[in-house]
Amino acid sequence: MAAAMDRASPPVTRFAPSPNGRLHLGHALSAIVAHDLARQAGGRFLLRIEDIDGPRSRPELADEFRRDLEWLGLEWEEVPPQSTRLASYAAAAGTLKERGLLYPCTCTRKEIEEAGAVAGSDPGSGAGAGGLIYPGTCKHRPPDPARPAAWRLDSARALAETGPLIWDDSLAGSQRADLSGLGDVVLVRKDLPASYHLAVTLDDAADGVTLVTRGADLFAASHVHRTLQALLGLPVPRWHHHPLLLGADGEKLAKRRGSPALAERRAAGEDGRVLAQQLRLQQFQLGT
Ligand SMILES: [Zn+2]
Repeated sequence: MAAAMDRASPPVTRFAPSPNGRLHLGHALSAIVAHDLARQAGGRFLLRIEDIDGPRSRPELADEFRRDLEWLGLEWEEVPPQSTRLASYAAAAGTLKERGLLYPCTCTRKEIEEAGAVAGSDPGSGAGAGGLIYPGTCKHRPPDPARPAAWRLDSARALAETGPLIWDDSLAGSQRADLSGLGDVVLVRKDLPASYHLAVTLDDAADGVTLVTRGADLFAASHVHRTLQALLGLPVPRWHHHPLLLGADGEKLAKRRGSPALAERRAAGEDGRVLAQQLRLQQFQLGT
């Protein structure tokens, strides 16, 4: 762990796709950014398959992802997938519960909306109510045992325990961890032993990731992750949130907008290394 915190060491980065959909150009850019930042500094680039998204997870896609990365000319070390790490998620959640830092929430998305929740910046609870600041309905009431419960981070108690925290983004500079735009995020989902926030924070620590790279759309999540690192005594990496690829209309390139999957480009005979070079040279419109 001490070595992972040594900022003079070559960086360890990772690409962590979920096999619930094919990879597209935006994923390619994320993988290339992580790969190049590690390799340029003599570091390591890891691949981790985030395969715990229940019924949406399609394990056969993991093989397709490996072929996509190879096609782009990238080399990686693969680390264990999330499905092998459920016990570590449960253990961390148990610790946080014992310390009174989590509380059960049985609200549905509809109930959260009806309680007057306002839009926030949480990109990653994956609990059916992402993007809304939870109004705290369940914080002071006993949970209904007949309804499934998610577990939320009591952000006020978390802040009282950690005090002010700083994290560092290589593009945006020094940031003060601030949960006010996210509210009490979900750490344990109703259907899974961890939300994105808890799983990715634990995985990055377990894998020795020292430079967390991802798209700027996940910037706000790092406030949560920095807080979790402090609460759980985990090493603190640096972050690099890269600008997103935008379509010609200025909107985020998403698969639903008709951008072909990397596998389709590959099958059509396109040269992946040329595509990777175009992405490196940013011959695509970039936005933040
Ligand atoms: Zn609730």
